[in-house]
Amino acid sequence: MTFSISSAFDSGNIRVLSIDGVEADLEIETDHGSDFYQWFHFRVGNAAGRELTLRITNTAGSAYPFGWPGYRARISEDRIHWRQADTNYNDKQLTITVRPETNSLWVAYFAPYSMERHFDLVARMAAKPGVTQRELTKTLDGRPLDCLTLGTGPKQVWLYARQHPGESMAEWWMEGALEKLTDSEDETARQLLAAATFNIVPNMNPDGSFRGHLRTNAAGVNLNREWHAPTADRSPEVLAVRNAMDATGVDFAMDVHGDEAIPANFLAGFEGIPSYSEAKGALFARFRDTLAERSPDFQVQKGYEIAAPGKANMSMSTTQLAERYGAVSMTLEMPFKDHDDNPDPEFGWSPDRCKRLAHDCLDNLAAMIGDL
Ligand code: ZN
Repeated sequence: MTFSISSAFDSGNIRVLSIDGVEADLEIETDHGSDFYQWFHFRVGNAAGRELTLRITNTAGSAYPFGWPGYRARISEDRIHWRQADTNYNDKQLTITVRPETNSLWVAYFAPYSMERHFDLVARMAAKPGVTQRELTKTLDGRPLDCLTLGTGPKQVWLYARQHPGESMAEWWMEGALEKLTDSEDETARQLLAAATFNIVPNMNPDGSFRGHLRTNAAGVNLNREWHAPTADRSPEVLAVRNAMDATGVDFAMDVHGDEAIPANFLAGFEGIPSYSEAKGALFARFRDTLAERSPDFQVQKGYEIAAPGKANMSMSTTQLAERYGAVSMTLEMPFKDHDDNPDPEFGWSPDRCKRLAHDCLDNLAAMIGDL
């Protein structure tokens, strides 16, 4: 019997070119309305006990070709534990070798975070004491954009994730952050909720998440290039969140992402904005440097180039929020590969580690929330 490959489900993405014996040639589909692609997620059926060679043949034209060297695909049969698969890359293609034990093996770019899991998370958190849930808008495909609010303090903290929907690690981080903040036994959480009000958007891009996109929403728009001028037609998700931020102001913000190429966790700040001040910059640096002391899964050596004075890209949320509200604002990037300073050969960077890093970020924030 030939094996099968399917991706017709929440966050699925693959195109089957051919299946021949125990080999398949595959391509990743572009985001609808754009040229971006890198996220894949599919199920291999009816192949128990056979060694298969799965080739993704269009990696060269993907959004981040540097994401493939050293990268390993994630596989799961229970849809809970996602291990790294035997993966090889040459300049033309990514070859994943698997031997499924059962007749359904799931393969993905990173442990997926489905829209169903998102709705489960929002429902579970909304039921906790002190948590308010609301819809900020509806997306172009008609999905609700959820915001959770908790805490009673005067500082306004905004945490938001998955502007880029293929960066599923960002919502695993959110799950960890929400679990900690709603843990009544957690002393740090109690301290944070007394000092601040937390506004949390666990998924900024429900349409792209469901559609199996890497980087854009249903209209093919990269939401993290819209913050200077969001519109209802192109980027209603950003417009709604920015309007809600206008209503509260923002003291501290974290935008949670994944980075395809760099094998490390790192932060990017808001250098280069017109109103940049040394005082705000020092608060960002303090958060970054103390996080590196706190967590073996964070470092400060690897990261993005820092913008020169006046040269910040103001269409991105982190810079726009720092300028618009005077926020201490930052982008957290987590790897698709691994955090090479503290590697895990079996799982690589993983959902559990995303959640642990979220806990460390909140402990770190608690230590400086009074100074924001
Ligand atoms: Zn991103």
